[in-house]
Amino acid sequence: LIPDWSHAMSKSETLFADAQRLIPGGVNSPVRAFTGVGGVPLFIERANGAYLYDADGKAYIDYVGSWGPMVLGHNHPAIRNAVIDAAERGLSFGAPTEMEVKMAQLVCELVPSMDMVRMVNSGTEATMSAIRLARGFTHRDKIIKFEGCYHGHADHLLVKAGSGALTLGQPNSPGVPADFAKHTLTCSYNDLDSVRAAFEQYPQEIAAIIVEPVAGNMNCIPPQDDFLPGLRSLCDEFGALLIIDEVMTGFRVALGGAQEYYDVQPDLTCLGKIIGGGMPVGAFGGRRDVMMALAPTGPVYQAGTLSGNPVAMAAGFACLTAVSQPGVHQRLTEQTDKLAAGLLRVAQEENIPLVVNHVGGMFGLFFTDAESVTCYADVTRCDVERFKRFFHLMLQEGVYLAPSAYEAGFMSVAHSDEDIQRTIDAARRCFAQL
Ligand code: PMP
Repeated sequence: LIPDWSHAMSKSETLFADAQRLIPGGVNSPVRAFTGVGGVPLFIERANGAYLYDADGKAYIDYVGSWGPMVLGHNHPAIRNAVIDAAERGLSFGAPTEMEVKMAQLVCELVPSMDMVRMVNSGTEATMSAIRLARGFTHRDKIIKFEGCYHGHADHLLVKAGSGALTLGQPNSPGVPADFAKHTLTCSYNDLDSVRAAFEQYPQEIAAIIVEPVAGNMNCIPPQDDFLPGLRSLCDEFGALLIIDEVMTGFRVALGGAQEYYDVQPDLTCLGKIIGGGMPVGAFGGRRDVMMALAPTGPVYQAGTLSGNPVAMAAGFACLTAVSQPGVHQRLTEQTDKLAAGLLRVAQEENIPLVVNHVGGMFGLFFTDAESVTCYADVTRCDVERFKRFFHLMLQEGVYLAPSAYEAGFMSVAHSDEDIQRTIDAARRCFAQL
């Protein structure tokens, strides 16, 4: 009998089946499993410029960009060559290197609120360490975060809001002791009254506010005009530190991050993603007096065997050097504007109610009748089922969007006008089928 090959599994399907036996959910980070959209994730073989190529050889215009780092496009030659050069001199020394000094200098120049910086290996480490430092510096335990903001998976940050501004944090993952989460107060994004109420309830106990200056982990929600300045003045009034988590927005919303774009001065900044150019790097830094409280100059402990790794630093330095060339952020913004305008136009033509939020090189699509989407509650009112259908139709068209209605999209400077036009044309066909 001749076997029926019409149902032969794709290479991604075969790999996913194998992966699920060996790795929980088949992935090393949950959203990659397409949990937000269903179906089988693509296994990627290589990437170049604006394109991803899956294990079956199909090409996709990529708007995930490794979840943010690939602001220059994939496999940028300057970064690749820097990595190869560094690797030839050794992979890790566990001792300081000149490149760490150069990198610190560059980061502190690009983000002027940072007098000093410490390198870590991920965004999670950056936020976790910044919060420990803020607590150690202020001798206070509580922190404020915002509903729908993600700051990595440290215990006390994995807390979502109950309803109302002053809800004491409840862990939203088993394994997070309630005792750890109880120091996390959750307020509503873009709602300064909820923050003031938290401070008034605990005027002497709040060490810091941590905020995504453009929320990118509940799709894409820019701050309203008074929000970030309002957080700054509440922190000043109550003696708390303002931590701006620029893991996603840093070097993307503007060269100096969202703090430059919105002109707000944090006490501490967290960085990740682009700072490593695709290698695992994070960083936190800020006011000199606060940073000096860190070991070994101060008592707040923080460390890392591979922190400041020479290959990772070389990649990050090459990436930031290229990203700081004139015109990069203008192009990033222009390409994002073109995509947003084009998607809105074809959605209207196909009678699909759509809101598109975008800032710099970040964007978000919301299937909703609402005029605007400004907080987590608005996001939850969007049509997730419609997004899922749209995602899969776009994937068939060769466009790779973030596989979740709650993640931002990322532009790169490698996305050509033609790539963007192809995306808009594909979206029109997909909208017509929704
Ligand atoms: N903060 C923000 C704003 C993020 O978007 C992320 C990751 N998406 C993190 C922190 C955590 O970074 P990582 O995944 O590198 O630990």
